[in-house]
Amino acid sequence: MLRDTFGRSIEYVRLSVTDRCDLRCSYCLPKGFKDFQEPAEWLSYAELTRVMQAFAALGTRRIRITGGEPLTRQHLPELIRDLAAIPGIEDLSLSTNATRLAKTAQELQQAGVSRINVSLDSLQPARFAQITGGKLDKVLAGLMAAKAAGFAPIKINMVVMREVNTDEVVDMVNFCIEHDFTLRFIETMPIGNPGRDATDHYVDLRDIKTQLETHFDLIPGVMPGGGPARYVRVAGTELRIGFITPMSQHFCDTCNRVRLSADGNIYLCLGQNAVYPLREHLRRGISDTELQQHILQAIALKPARHEFNEHPAHIVRFMAQTGG
Ligand code: SAM
Repeated sequence: MLRDTFGRSIEYVRLSVTDRCDLRCSYCLPKGFKDFQEPAEWLSYAELTRVMQAFAALGTRRIRITGGEPLTRQHLPELIRDLAAIPGIEDLSLSTNATRLAKTAQELQQAGVSRINVSLDSLQPARFAQITGGKLDKVLAGLMAAKAAGFAPIKINMVVMREVNTDEVVDMVNFCIEHDFTLRFIETMPIGNPGRDATDHYVDLRDIKTQLETHFDLIPGVMPGGGPARYVRVAGTELRIGFITPMSQHFCDTCNRVRLSADGNIYLCLGQNAVYPLREHLRRGISDTELQQHILQAIALKPARHEFNEHPAHIVRFMAQTGG
């Protein structure tokens, strides 16, 4: 079992395969942002697989593939097949904006992705375009393809922003009831460049829950593999709604994850600068035992908790660079 210095079991790695994204969500990347890493800086699929084999040998059980937008990296199913075959990995999931899911959902499912999370902040085409710079119809087509491919549950992640999309939370609940999706609301975190939607439009999700209670009967619920979300169920339906509250009610005491960025940095906390660069070691030709030692040294750096509230300007890297 991989444990950090605070006794937390680290059984979950969020694995970023690229920092690139075909959307520019206002709270994530600045409009027009082009300063991406070069593909040569990314770990190859063989390197990513090797690192994940080492994590698994140390006790990691779950991997989530993320980015940037993971489906922008070519031949992703090849990596998925290799990761799914690693002994000890019980759960291989994917976070995506779904713009490319219509074409790839079935292949991803066959390659070994067990669960999919889709980011969706608005059901209104003009507003969706305003928040993300993208086209809503592509995302909806991707979601329907994921459903047809048999992914279940499909979780919708909605970042809730005051004066941006709080008026859509009831619509989103109804949409998820209709399509049998799970819904999670997320608070914005000040990552990268506070002053944009991440800070100016922050909303405490307890207010959203109160807003929903005037429309729906919410009863306490659970969700297997629910992670940090606190779940309720909408009475009379199968819909589970999760509230992910890193700002108003942080869940650092139970944090079980680290992130590996596409360029081979292990980030120990979203809201701290603790980082362990692995790529140069890997490319020096270290042994598997040495690789495991490096991972253990990285885990020893995991901080007790984020300090987004105390130091909101602390994290200058963007979410897409860390691996969301
Ligand atoms: N492209 C994929 C997607 O859209 O899900 C995976 C990467 S994306 C960075 C992962 C998640 O991070 C998304 O749900 C996104 O909404 C969230 N995210 C990005 N910046 C954030 C911020 N400042 N605060 C809260 N969530 C953020």
